[in-house]
Amino acid sequence: MQLGFIYFFDKDKLFLFKCNTVSFKVVLLHGMEEMLRNKKIKVTDTRIEILRILQSSSSAISYNTIQERTSQKLDKVTVYRTLDTFESKGIIHSIPSDEGVKLYSFCKDDCEDHQHDDNHVHFNCEKCHKTICLYHTDIPKVKLPEGFFSTSSQLIVNGICRDCNELK
Ligand SMILES: [Zn+2]
Ligand SMILES: [Zn+2]
Ligand SMILES: [Zn+2]
Repeated sequence: MQLGFIYFFDKDKLFLFKCNTVSFKVVLLHGMEEMLRNKKIKVTDTRIEILRILQSSSSAISYNTIQERTSQKLDKVTVYRTLDTFESKGIIHSIPSDEGVKLYSFCKDDCEDHQHDDNHVHFNCEKCHKTICLYHTDIPKVKLPEGFFSTSSQLIVNGICRDCNELK
């Protein structure tokens, strides 16, 4: 059976719904702090602040965007370390961008410690320059030549996003 998670946030609470085809029930009702504790990450103000910024964004964001959106003074090394920790713990994944910087976005599948399962397409809008996770659009399997073995793949599709398309 296909199991999925839906996350959404209200104020500082993280609501985690686990759903399957026959039932839709609330399995957990957690705050961000508890989310960190579950991942064995120490709760700090900086970590909570970075989580808050990431969750309030509808697209993948860079280190610079995090710094632009924070009201606090965040230490550069601490922010990068936090992003690395979140990524290795399966909370967020990174996406390479045209400018050579990494973009970060929440993982919505069953990602775990050092075990990402983000097999979705990333969409890069040429108009608003947002990079969006298309969580429900899987990367098609690529047939590799003999002797080649794949561990992960990335697919970035360029074009015009739905929001920009509707503005036309
Ligand atoms: Zn992931
Ligand atoms: Zn757009
Ligand atoms: Zn993504």
